[in-house]
Amino acid sequence: MTDVSRLPGPFVDEWSWQQQARCRDVDPALFFHPAGERGPAHDHRDAVAKRVCAGCPVREPCAEYALRTREPYGVWGGLTEHERRAVLARRRALHRRQRAA
Ligand code: SF4
Repeated sequence: MTDVSRLPGPFVDEWSWQQQARCRDVDPALFFHPAGERGPAHDHRDAVAKRVCAGCPVREPCAEYALRTREPYGVWGGLTEHERRAVLARRRALHRRQRAA
């Protein structure tokens, strides 16, 4: 059977938190690195994006959405794609330990 757990749910439920997003009036390019961006420019853009997220009232649902859908790019909920991969790896490890116990 097809696993649809990663797919978004009903549209309104899935996106209603975005109405309170602090980034609504911010250039989306701040949250997604352009092709080839490296080093200090990459780190600085990520840091500025994360500062926007730090004051966002919907940071948690935003981060959970990105984690659940395996969003591959951008800063979501204050987490970079690298940080989201680390969170998911920790969750998988915890899940394995819980199943083994
Ligand atoms: S947490 Fe960051 S990316 Fe998510 S809605 Fe808020 S400002 Fe936008």
